[in-house]
Amino acid sequence: MGVKVDVTKYPGNVINNKLVPTAATRHSVNPSTGKALYEVPVATQQDVDTAVKHARDAFRAWSQTTFSERANLLLAFADAIEANREDMEKLLVQEQGKPLSLAKTEFDMTLIWLRAFATMEIKDEVLDENDERIVYQTFPPLGVCCGIVPWNWPVLLGMGKLGPALITGNTLIIKPSPFTPYCDLKLGEIGMSVFPPGVFQVLSGGDDLGPMLTEHPDIDKISFTGSIFTGKKVMESCAKTLKRVTLELGGNDPAIICEDVDIEKIVPKLATLVFLNSGQICMLVKRYYVHEKIYDQFRDAMVEFTKSIKTGDGFEPDVTVGPIQNSMQYEKVKDMYSEISKCSWKTAFEGGVKEATNGFFITPAIIDNPPEDSRIVTEEPFGPIVPLLKWSNEDDAIERANNSKTGLGASVWCKDLKRGERIARQLSAGSVWVNSHFDVAPNVPFGGHKWSGIGSEWGTTGLKSYCNSRSLWVWKNVM
Ligand code: NAD
Repeated sequence: MGVKVDVTKYPGNVINNKLVPTAATRHSVNPSTGKALYEVPVATQQDVDTAVKHARDAFRAWSQTTFSERANLLLAFADAIEANREDMEKLLVQEQGKPLSLAKTEFDMTLIWLRAFATMEIKDEVLDENDERIVYQTFPPLGVCCGIVPWNWPVLLGMGKLGPALITGNTLIIKPSPFTPYCDLKLGEIGMSVFPPGVFQVLSGGDDLGPMLTEHPDIDKISFTGSIFTGKKVMESCAKTLKRVTLELGGNDPAIICEDVDIEKIVPKLATLVFLNSGQICMLVKRYYVHEKIYDQFRDAMVEFTKSIKTGDGFEPDVTVGPIQNSMQYEKVKDMYSEISKCSWKTAFEGGVKEATNGFFITPAIIDNPPEDSRIVTEEPFGPIVPLLKWSNEDDAIERANNSKTGLGASVWCKDLKRGERIARQLSAGSVWVNSHFDVAPNVPFGGHKWSGIGSEWGTTGLKSYCNSRSLWVWKNVM
């Protein structure tokens, strides 16, 4: 079952199954109230070196364990998280700002993901066999891996790296975002009662910690989730030591809405899919391309639904849109909203800064058919603001949907499934849905085309990205 952790206290970095305090500390703020949360560690280069050394030592024995031994520990870890989840969900609301219902969803998903990874064995493959020889492809673990996590889904995205890394026989160091280190540190603390020392460690720190890890000569892989800007820096840094790299980066997902859809049926889902987590999800719809025949009706239905969306503190009931997670992002989103008047965009629904609070609240906005080259169409706003755009010609809609440096997700909404699939197959994105958006699953690879990333996580493909490929040739009759 694992221990119960106290979520109200300074936790210390998790190094070799010990809570290690640091000389310097820092804190994040609750984005709903602007109030400081408790102090957390600031890891130094020495802490990094120590953790990497323990991870390397632990790798020797951990990589030799059987799949079922590792799976049992992963399941025990999931049980231990479950025993702590109620307190942790509240901690997640405090540090991240998301509504409690969404924090619960994040924990639900995390447990489903961990338990699914515990069933996903990467087996040797026999590529060729005859009387003389057998050729296998085997998948040994890479070694010491490091997961760098963003602030929007710190629990699922952190544990979405842990499961694949550990089940394939690697050791892992997690580095949370400085904006949301609390739950990830507590997950490390929970892991101390489950995994052998050095197998799972957590280092929290400031802005200089990421580069210390990407530069480190004894780390074999970085799995990074975050912005395109930082992703490029990570790749550049990893190149120096030829580390394996997985990059899960930003997106600007289009949704193409065909003229045969049942508007009333799809609008609640579509509106939720844009404002969830205050728009701070890489894979939300960021551009709606709506067929001109139904454009006005669709826009009006979106507006009507959006009126019912409540913005507020994550602990208030029925809140969908919590605060923007941090002051830096708040300023970025405000800057995007300021373009509305600067560029004379028409608003179908006028949102804006919620005054008279200490939190980073911004209410949803819908932009009515802005020019295709406007910032709200070309950039990922990562806030609760979305443009509706018109189309009349299918090829043109596909071209405009694909006209982005990013390619994370994309969707087509269409009653005619043949047509929907035909359009879907022409969309350049790592995940494409017909009549949905943002479906994810632990056994389905998740990654981006173009600047949205390199490689993928989850699914067999994702698990194999934590492995080397070894071609093993065995000649039978030589001796
Ligand atoms: P970010 O790039 O600012 O930070 C991500 C992580 O990288 C943090 O832990 C940060 O401390 C660390 N970091 C910062 N500089 C670093 C450096 N030089 N070297 C190594 N690490 C460094 O991203 P963010 O603002 O936390 O997250 C939001 C972005 O993440 C959005 O663009 C969003 O689309 C993207 N995102 C992508 C996915 C995906 O799976 N594709 C999922 C969630 C978020």
